[in-house]
Formats: sequence, structure tokens, C-alpha cells
Amino acid sequence: MAHQEQSTATFPEHIRKKRNGEQLSAGEIRDFVQGVKDKTIQESQIGAMLMAIWLQGMVAEETHALTKEMMLSGEVMSWPAEWEGLMVDKHSTGGVGDKISLVLAPALAACGCKVPMISGRGLAHTGGTLDKLESIPGYNVYQSVQQLHRILEEVGCCIVGQTDNLVPADKVMYALRDVTSTVDSLPLITGSIISKKGAESLSALVLDVKFGNAALYKDLGSAKSLAQSMVTVGNSLGIRTGAVLSRMNCPIGRCVGNTLEVMESLECLKGRGPDDILELVTSLGGLLLWMIGRAGSLEEGKKVISKTLQNGAALEKFQNMMIGQGVTSQIAASLCSTNADYYSILRRANYQPELETEGLGTVLDIDGMVIAQVLHRLGAGRSKAGDPVNHSVGAELLVSLGQKVEKGQPWLRVHYETPALSAEQRLSLQGALTLGTADQLHTQPLVAEIILP
Ligand code: URA
Repeated sequence: MAHQEQSTATFPEHIRKKRNGEQLSAGEIRDFVQGVKDKTIQESQIGAMLMAIWLQGMVAEETHALTKEMMLSGEVMSWPAEWEGLMVDKHSTGGVGDKISLVLAPALAACGCKVPMISGRGLAHTGGTLDKLESIPGYNVYQSVQQLHRILEEVGCCIVGQTDNLVPADKVMYALRDVTSTVDSLPLITGSIISKKGAESLSALVLDVKFGNAALYKDLGSAKSLAQSMVTVGNSLGIRTGAVLSRMNCPIGRCVGNTLEVMESLECLKGRGPDDILELVTSLGGLLLWMIGRAGSLEEGKKVISKTLQNGAALEKFQNMMIGQGVTSQIAASLCSTNADYYSILRRANYQPELETEGLGTVLDIDGMVIAQVLHRLGAGRSKAGDPVNHSVGAELLVSLGQKVEKGQPWLRVHYETPALSAEQRLSLQGALTLGTADQLHTQPLVAEIILP
């Protein structure tokens, strides 16, 4: 097989080859990834190769080889034979108010799936699932592989951080991509994301690839190229992989910020979530159920997922997942009770002023990017890995797209502490709301396209 071939050339020769736009063999790509992992090639050489890949790109065979070698650079998880065909996960390219994992993982577990969800932290304007969960007192995102097995056995889903031995080559490459301006490369993003999902030994994977002004990719075309690249490589590694291309302009749901998003997720799990969250959760979950043969069609899968949110089955899984990951049973039960007093458990920010509309009309747009950037500066997110976050910082939308509003009507509640909301930030937030006349409203479906395996 091609990936078994040995390369005898020196590493500068591999860099030259890629720099000149030639195709690297599977053996040369293996040399590179192993050299990264074993630290037998210098950081300057890794940086040069990353830049050569960024400039010249990779064909599908190269991206497959890169992803596979990255996956094999660390531990590849193995699961009991009886879970065969049930292991599922999702990845999102990141959005504002994106709390979908918190609802989707327990919903899938309630359908009999096993969901070993390995998530990340927020960076720049997008939030991270781990940060959201850490706003729940006692929730421990760091679990050993043995504990992960136990939680999957007993509950069916867990949401945890990356273990040290999962795709170690990605840790080195990701850090160097950050300082060599090579983050936004299709083969490098594909390798980074799919190698980590491959190491989870999944049966099926669904990707939520977002596009719009609050997403990494601004237009459908570029988001589709990334989705197609990841779908192709995921399937070539034996994971049934599909993608949902979703719009990311307005925040998802009504809440942005770690604690507020946990509260909104709990409301969704109690069957009281907003329509856009429901649409995303059922589309992503329905696609997974269909891909593993637990639903006859996407529509049937959507209905099955929706039922778990209405009948309390997903909520029960979330409650047990929290307990499995260190939350006391009293706290988990209180959060999951029908009329939970969330702020008796979760931290509430000291200040929560409401911004009022400056005119009247129909809500045409709410710019998620502007809201996320202000919240980031108020301490909701981090600028570099390791920075602390204030979980209580966030914002609640009090109006929705298409709604008619009066002048002076409250439209956004901002939660903050220190630093305080400045006059300039207030002005920026006011600029995030666009009002107009009803005939100017052009709502488009949240899910633009679905890519099947
Ligand atoms: N997330 C990852 O893990 N890697 C990337 O390259 C981009 C997003």
C-alpha cells in the first residue's frame, strides 16, 4: 500500500518538493508527521512545511495521508464490540451562541448512541463547549480514558477535554500554525479536525460547517469546500461522515455567554428551546441517526431526536452525564427540575442593564459578531490559550428576527462585571441591531445545504 512506502529523501527535500507544488507521497507525509511527533525535525522546518502546504495546498490523497498519520501519532480509542455502529460525534466550526453540543450529545444518548464528545475551549470570538460546562459547579471536563468508558457505559454520552495522548502531532502543528499564519489552510484544518475525530474510532460523524459574518467562513462557497474536504477524508478513514452547512449571522438561540448558554441548553432539554436551536439539533442528530441506520430517513431521524427533547429522555441523560463528570446529584437534580432557580446554582453577573431600541420597526438583523466581540472584551472569552474567562458575562436577546418593535423597547440584556460596559461598547452593541420595514425582511433557512457521505 502507498502509505507503507519508505522515504529516503532528507527533510529539506520534502519541503522543497511541496514548495514547488509537487505531490508528496504517503511515505514523505508519514516522515513529516513522525518527525513532528518525535521532535526529530526542527520547528523552523515544520513552519516551512506548513507554509508550503498553505501555499500549494494538497490533493485528496495527500490530505488523507496527513490526517491518517496525525491520527496514528497518538492513542486511537477502542470500544467494546457491542458498541459497534453506535459511536457518534459532531464537530462545529464555531459560532456565536453555539450550545448545540450540550443538547445534542444527551439527545443522541437517549436514542441509544454512544457519544464520546471531545471538545475544545473558546478562542477569539467563538465560545467553547468546555468553558460552558465549567460554569456548572463541580463539572470536571478532564476524565481518564477509563472514566470515559465508564460514563459511556452507564450514561451513553460525555463531553470532555482532549487527553494528552490524543493526536500529539496536532498539538505541535496547531501551535506552530498559529504563529506562522497558516491556520486557514483547507488540508491543515481537515487534518487537525478529522484526525481527532478519527482517534475517537467513530462509526459516524456529522459536521456543522457554518458560514456568514459571525463564522470563520463568510460565504457558502468556501464553507462548502471545507465541508467537502472533511467529508471526503472522514469517509476515506472509514467514518460515515456528513455535513450540514448552516448560516451564522445572528446568534444561535437567545443567549450568548457561558452560564447563560448552559441555562438555555437546559431549557431546550426541557422542551422549551427556541426554534433555531431545535432545527440545528434535530438536523445534525437526525443525519447521524440516519447514517448509522437508526432512522430510515433524515426526516424520521429529526422526529426521533425531537421526541427525546419533549419527553425528558435527553434531560435525564444530561443530568446523569453531569453526575458522571463530578456534579453532585443535588445540583444536577436542581438544574434539571422543571422550574429550576438557575441562579441559586450558577453565578449571576453583578450588572445586567437592558439596551433599548433607538427607533421603531421590524428587526431585520442582529449582528452576532459585534455582540461576541463586545462580550469577549468584557471577559466572556479568551485571547490566548490559558487566559481565564468570566462565566457570568453574556447577553440575552429580548427580541427576535422579524419582530415588530417600538422605540425604547428593551432588546438586549448585557451581563457583565469587571471590566464595565463602556459607552463605546454600548454604541457598538446598538449598531448590531438593524431595524427596517417588514417588506425588507428576507429570512433564509438556517440550514442551507446538507452533504451526505
Ligand atoms: N479546530 C481544530 O481543532 N483545528 C483547526 O485547524 C481548526 C479548528
